[in-house]
Amino acid sequence: MSTLIGAATADRYVVIGNPIAHSKSPAIHAHFALLTAQQIDYQRLLAPLDGFAQTVLSFRNSGGKGVNVTVPFKLEAFALATQLTPRAQAAGAVNTLKFEGAVILGDNTDGQGLVADIVRNAGVTLQGKRVLLLGAGGAARGALLPLLEQQPAQLVIANRTVARAEELVLLAHQYEPLAGIASVVTSSAFSDVDGEFDIVINATSASLHDDVPPVSSGIFTANTLAYDMMYGAAPTAFLRFAASHEAQIRDGLGMLVEQAAVAFALWRGVLPETAPVLAELRGALLARARSS
Ligand code: NDP
Repeated sequence: MSTLIGAATADRYVVIGNPIAHSKSPAIHAHFALLTAQQIDYQRLLAPLDGFAQTVLSFRNSGGKGVNVTVPFKLEAFALATQLTPRAQAAGAVNTLKFEGAVILGDNTDGQGLVADIVRNAGVTLQGKRVLLLGAGGAARGALLPLLEQQPAQLVIANRTVARAEELVLLAHQYEPLAGIASVVTSSAFSDVDGEFDIVINATSASLHDDVPPVSSGIFTANTLAYDMMYGAAPTAFLRFAASHEAQIRDGLGMLVEQAAVAFALWRGVLPETAPVLAELRGALLARARSS
């Protein structure tokens, strides 16, 4: 009986994607729940490629409280939300849903997670800095508003398809709360990126194929932070390229943990400590690398 009462009082959350078996989110949120003494039940949920909305709605109707959304459903989650946070609105994509009565609130915590990892964990300020953002896909779009809120001196968005970088610049310029600071944003082709940068963020998926966006090595100095949103047991091709030109390097594992912490805070009203979770995940990655 007491088990049943316990199970009934644990609020239920899921991460939905396709595929989903690889997701680290259940382990991250279980650790956050321990650290904050919150009782939650967090599982993986595979949605059919043509059944995202139905999967979300039946989870909500069964009493679920919130959902994390991963590839390939972030745009469908944006469409399903009945209310959006400003950063989700700016991103045009949603990675977190919270159910509040009839309301489905959509948020995008990826960019906030990126900024937290750079500013808090790496100790690198963005304010007044020259920032280069490589890529103009979903992750870059999610990073746009949180990066600009940090008031960099310059934000250059470079992408293989330059028109997509130009779209992001337009988005920043049209977004009312950014009026006054959006003028620092410009677009570029990879080959036209010029000068040295304080922070270079790789938000392309080139690393998935062990590729490097074709930018000049002259963008790096010994003081540059080169950040790849992708993470793994070993540095990505982009991080190896940056390190070979003296830059400091950091991968996206901290972003993964920080975006989860922001989602946890949205659901539970308490921001968990992230350092122990990041240390545990890093340790597991390194252990796997050593044993392979
Ligand atoms: P999208 O598919 O939305 O965008 C991909 C981007 O990469 C586009 O700008 C695309 O350019 C560019 N691109 C793809 N291949 C190449 C290449 N060979 N050379 C140069 N540019 C290329 O992906 P996402 O934005 O969702 O994800 C991007 C990366 O961010 C992934 O590595 C993903 O794993 C990572 N990520 C990490 C997160 C974390 O928590 N750490 C969270 C979210 C994402 P074009 O427009 O020309 O096609």
